[in-house]
Amino acid sequence: MEEEKKVKLVPAICTQCGARLEVDPSKEAAVCRFCNTPFIIEKAINNYNVKYANIEHADNVNIDLSGTVKEVLDFAGKQLSESRAEKKQARKLEAENSRQFIMTFFKYFFIFAGIVIIMWLLMQMF
Ligand SMILES: [Zn+2]
Repeated sequence: MEEEKKVKLVPAICTQCGARLEVDPSKEAAVCRFCNTPFIIEKAINNYNVKYANIEHADNVNIDLSGTVKEVLDFAGKQLSESRAEKKQARKLEAENSRQFIMTFFKYFFIFAGIVIIMWLLMQMF
């Protein structure tokens, strides 16, 4: 028991009930004191790291930058460039639409002008 007190405990989260725990990282498994479920210590520590990892704990937390974090960053970067391409596409479409609108406007304007002229001519006849 005296021996165990010297061990540096690290924060973890129970894989079963999600309770915050202090675990001995040199051991493989422990039993949660809240739900009495045995859990793998490495997984519980990892749970904690995923949820609370920050600079404060950086010295006793191992963040795997090559794995999930990189994936998330890559995904975010991809999303950003995709949304930029989408915006470019949208602007192009907008320009196309306004050109179409002007063409349609002139088309109807000339039809309307034609009708007015025909009506004016008809009125001259009577
Ligand atoms: Zn638990």
